[in-house]
Amino acid sequence: MTATLKRSIPFLDLAAASRELAPRIEAALLRVARSGQYIGGPEVAMFETDWAAYCGAKHAVGCGNGLDAVTLALRACGVGPGDGVIVPAHTFVATWHAIAALGARVQPVAVDPVTMVMDPKAAAAAIDSTTRVILPVHLYGQPAPMDRLLALARDTGLKVVEDAAQAHGTRFRDRPIGAHGDAVAWSFYPAKTLGALGDGGAVTTDDPKIADRIRRLTNYGATAKYDAVELGINSRLDPLQAAVLAVKLRHLTTWVARRARIAGIYAEELAGTGLVLPVTLPGTDPSWHLYVVRHAHRDRLAARLADAGIGTGIHYPIPCYRQGAHRGIGINRQALTQADRISETVLSLPMGPHLPEEDARRVADVLRAAL
Ligand SMILES: *Cc1c(COP(=O)(O)O)cnc(C)c1O
Repeated sequence: MTATLKRSIPFLDLAAASRELAPRIEAALLRVARSGQYIGGPEVAMFETDWAAYCGAKHAVGCGNGLDAVTLALRACGVGPGDGVIVPAHTFVATWHAIAALGARVQPVAVDPVTMVMDPKAAAAAIDSTTRVILPVHLYGQPAPMDRLLALARDTGLKVVEDAAQAHGTRFRDRPIGAHGDAVAWSFYPAKTLGALGDGGAVTTDDPKIADRIRRLTNYGATAKYDAVELGINSRLDPLQAAVLAVKLRHLTTWVARRARIAGIYAEELAGTGLVLPVTLPGTDPSWHLYVVRHAHRDRLAARLADAGIGTGIHYPIPCYRQGAHRGIGINRQALTQADRISETVLSLPMGPHLPEEDARRVADVLRAAL
């Protein structure tokens, strides 16, 4: 009997991009190491310019990570203690942390069960006299319905901050995510669709006042050197990371297209299997940051894939409201119950621009056999 030994398929091959672009990434790192400019400087400024252009935004301000980016964007939009922020019940916990860290009120709302992003009707129903900002999350790389959310914000006098940590390269109505709302928060954590070799983040905006305020807040709240006019923080995009991100950014469009091809293979091979598959609504181009299927027996499917040497992820296993940091947030039961159901059933399949197409087909084969 001959056993065919099959390569294992990781959920995500983080080093693949650094292999593909090794000479250019390593040259960028050396250039910064030899420059003597280790905080701010031209590498950061150039990446900020490139990133703003990619996003179709007038301004980009680098910062230390995605959590800071969301927090800074909320602060620059005037959110403070007691202010309400409408946010999806189902998201990565950092979105909620940013609100709570400002002493603001988390106002969780249900997501659209098909797209898994904020449901504008649910958002409208949750607005109360404390609400100041609507904070949609382009989760898994699916764009939130920005047209309807912006109309809602306009009608109610609210600001819109977007958590775009999973939406590099996502487009909504032929426009990249990056300047629909008042401020858009980005993370360049290594596993993101545009990822650094460490932490990084940014906020994009068309509003020069918001850009200036965020720049000041990232620098101790100081306008000029050594004059802090408000209580800021220290949150910087590292020039080493900026130099690497500038190299990778040139490949982002190609990489997102490769992700879409993998998503297309999954969609084709897994249709009619009983799995709930992600969809692409007209007028949207998801970046496919994650390819998330849903099934009542998610754990059994993950185990079968693991037996075949295939890695998967769960985004996310514990709803925000059940985590210790947010215990006590019990408003909007319906949204929280929905978050429970989502957490129990989601399964993220291997996805990335460097995942071979034949590997995606094998993932689908193993899943079909398991179903
Ligand atoms: C990754 C992520 C963040 C936080 O980014 P960090 O850089 O890890 O701080 C925030 N929101 C969402 C939706 C994310 O996926």
